[in-house]
Amino acid sequence: MFNKEQITGTLVNYYATCKREAWLYAHHIHADQEDENVAFGKAMADIKEQNLQEFAFANLKFDKLSKERGHYVVTEYKKSLKNEYAAKMQLLFYIYLLKTGLNLKEVKGKIISGKKVVLVEDSDENFAILEQILGEIEELANMPVPPKFEHKKICDNCAYRNYCI
Ligand code: SF4
Repeated sequence: MFNKEQITGTLVNYYATCKREAWLYAHHIHADQEDENVAFGKAMADIKEQNLQEFAFANLKFDKLSKERGHYVVTEYKKSLKNEYAAKMQLLFYIYLLKTGLNLKEVKGKIISGKKVVLVEDSDENFAILEQILGEIEELANMPVPPKFEHKKICDNCAYRNYCI
């Protein structure tokens, strides 16, 4: 039985990208480790670990936590922002955990990808959207089989493509 406490930022990102991908990940079916994107992601993670302050709290793992003018800022660095919505939901999940788990008052989010900076607000409206998503992820992960494969544009660059296609 999968429950909400097992949800990670990566799973939220996958859910916002492809529900089938999220199901596979939640069921520990791992993506092709030789895939270029997976290899790049690992290399980025290694660099981040060496150079950035990393804060880990249970399933909370992001690149940087800082304090600016009285509020906290969580920063994530992304190699690309092909799916901005998924990246925003992932960061919102971290902000949500910080606010609900550590009782921090005001937490803002920042995604940096090259020269692009995307801000994520800790608003009630955003949290309502996220809570809905967390409920849906729990439901999805408890399904006995993954959602049916339907070919999408993103499939061609997905690390699970050998599994699905
Ligand atoms: S190949 Fe397509 S359907 Fe399969 S997990 Fe990736 S994005 Fe989803």
